Amino acid sequence: MRLRIRVTGIVQGVGFRPFIYRIAVKNGLNGYVKNMGDAGVEILLEGNPESVNSFLKDLHEKKPPLAKICGIFTSELGGENQYEGFTIQESSASRELSGSVIPPDVAICPECLRELRDSENLRHDYFFITCTDCGPRFTIINKLPYDRENTTMQEFHMCSFCKSEYVDPLNRRFHAQTVACPKCGPKVYLTDRNGELVICKDPIREAGKLISEGHIVAIKGLGGFHVAASAIKDEPLIRLRKAKHRRQKPFALMARNLEAVKSFAEVTSSEIETLESPARPIVLLNKNEHYYLSDLVAPGLHNVGVMLPYTGLHYMLFDGVNDPAFVMTSANPPNQPIVKDDEDALRTLDEIVDYFLFHNRRIAHRCDDSVVRLHGGNLVFIRRSRGYAPAPITLKWKAKRCVLALGGELNNTACILNNEKAFLSQHIGDVENIETRNFLVEASHHLAHLTNSQIEATACDLHPKFTTTILAKEVAEKNDWRLFQVQHHYAHVAALMAEHGVTEIVGVCCDGYGYGADGEAWGGEVIFGSLDPVEFKRLAHLEPQPLLGGDLATRYPLRMAAGILHGKIDIEKVLEQNSIHFPHGAREVQLILHQLRSGHGIAKTTSCGRILDAASAILGLCYERTYEGEPAMKLESAAVKGKEVLNLTPILKGKELKTTEMMLEIYEKRKTHKTSDLAFSVHAYLAKGLAQLAIEKASENGVNAIGFSGGVACNQIMAEIMRKTVEDAGMLFLVHFRIPPGDGGLSFGQAVIAGFSRN
Ligand SMILES: [Zn+2]
Ligand SMILES: [Zn+2]
Ligand SMILES: [Zn+2]
Repeated sequence: MRLRIRVTGIVQGVGFRPFIYRIAVKNGLNGYVKNMGDAGVEILLEGNPESVNSFLKDLHEKKPPLAKICGIFTSELGGENQYEGFTIQESSASRELSGSVIPPDVAICPECLRELRDSENLRHDYFFITCTDCGPRFTIINKLPYDRENTTMQEFHMCSFCKSEYVDPLNRRFHAQTVACPKCGPKVYLTDRNGELVICKDPIREAGKLISEGHIVAIKGLGGFHVAASAIKDEPLIRLRKAKHRRQKPFALMARNLEAVKSFAEVTSSEIETLESPARPIVLLNKNEHYYLSDLVAPGLHNVGVMLPYTGLHYMLFDGVNDPAFVMTSANPPNQPIVKDDEDALRTLDEIVDYFLFHNRRIAHRCDDSVVRLHGGNLVFIRRSRGYAPAPITLKWKAKRCVLALGGELNNTACILNNEKAFLSQHIGDVENIETRNFLVEASHHLAHLTNSQIEATACDLHPKFTTTILAKEVAEKNDWRLFQVQHHYAHVAALMAEHGVTEIVGVCCDGYGYGADGEAWGGEVIFGSLDPVEFKRLAHLEPQPLLGGDLATRYPLRMAAGILHGKIDIEKVLEQNSIHFPHGAREVQLILHQLRSGHGIAKTTSCGRILDAASAILGLCYERTYEGEPAMKLESAAVKGKEVLNLTPILKGKELKTTEMMLEIYEKRKTHKTSDLAFSVHAYLAKGLAQLAIEKASENGVNAIGFSGGVACNQIMAEIMRKTVEDAGMLFLVHFRIPPGDGGLSFGQAVIAGFSRN
């Protein structure tokens, strides 16, 4: 019989053609396999039916570890047999199907690591050693199909040794597009901050020594540049913080190995599994009692972000030193995407770093490290990027239209929903200026190309002034696409529903700020969500509290606290005593008091983030937010060591959970009770109160599932207390596990609402 088979999924760049070749030969079949321009593969088989059946069985059961098959489309062909033997044919640019994509970047595999360390091996000490099972993919591809000439490896011509492995069906580098060796592959070199070459025998180990000695070194990696510094010495970190204008924001670490991680952090078995997974994300780990790294790594926090080396280069950095870990932070100028080009690095980082460790392979697409946290065994994405993007999230249902969603403003991503697959872009960042806007446009185009998507609609936030909203309106008009503007918290809840495949839910959505359906500032919401038909409505929320000074109340959380406690305590005295915590001191306090008395021009918010911030200020944990989420994160860090002491009964009035009385309690007990206990009690009050509201509303609406979404859902204490309250009431509690609960998952939720709306 003669059979044409087309396979969709993640089937390019994962050793799929070599695998097909092997099982075809094993089953005595003739024909060919080739990569297609739509990221899928085409197979032609000639042989007897039993052999074909055995082939199809092998196809399902023995596929390579990184391959993911989404669809197999077979059609029987007539005519005479034409092929002798089985070959891997030259790729075709033809694009017939959608639903395929190339894989994310994959960390160096154990076999390549073994060869890296083997002094007999030709690739001994070769920093970019890879094979069909590992190495960069997403960050090197210019266009489909995934062939070497369509990647940034095209500039490197295989030597005869690499070529002999590349064409050998029995070799593990058979058709590995990234195959390279010291002779023919990318080279690495060290320069000073002006780009002048530093002559040395071993640039990577030299860079490691420089970092260990206290120098700051920019290191070119797979998806962009890192800035690396010692994690033990304070001096380089003081310098780095000053140069990057990052006073408090935690830096991520790269540890030399797992043993080193255990010396300063607690690690559970699921955390180890995640640290060592092929995606190698940054995992937030609790500092242990022996924590001995510089306090400047993650100031005021109970946890620290740690990743393990993921290329040969990273492993070699630690060879000549004893450091347990280095600080490795993304190199990006304020509010701009991670730096990926050598010229940009030299131009923008020269005042921050002392040296550059370059390699001469271009980065096609930037991709930041992913950041995750584990709540028990549950994976919580803070940032879903390298190692995960652009692998799809498969939904239970097929969308009615193909949608490109552009997300919100902060920590943004884009998302393409195509049939039942959602493809999230890599981390884009805060879309506030032209550079990040351009990055978003470019990443969206690339994603549409990679997935062969014919977009019919675009989705964005309700906020009229977001750059992404304006952009969505532009592209909708230009391409004649439908435009869906989706309320921020509805999108969060829709994302959670689609992830779990539930059609009805009562969702608790807590974050810092989202533009409400009524134009107000929402952020502590209980929402009814339905996906069939699509319908969302606000059922309840936190008590609206004054946002004294608008954005200033976000930056200086004591303003938030003052607005809440005004009329309950002698606010004049308290503010005057705390005037040093305001940038303009006593003068600012007088202005605040004036505004409080007049009550003019004070907007209100139901934001849960702002309540946590205010408590953090009242407890003296954080008076100024220097990075997103800082006051609330420091409150959680304090609460980790605390216990419930206040046992406040949540005050529910109609559609509201009151917060004023709780805040007053915290204020009054701040001197008699432990800060950690009070911090815990704030969490307990909000989590229990919101869960009770949700349970009440779910019963009224005949719904059995309650979800928790929004950036606050990354908070483990909130999530655990809410889970217990909901499960004790006999209901199902759902949290995110494949996309970020925060705004990195917003585009996905927008795409879901736009994709499943009937009209
Ligand atoms: Zn490998
Ligand atoms: Zn070579
Ligand atoms: Zn949000």
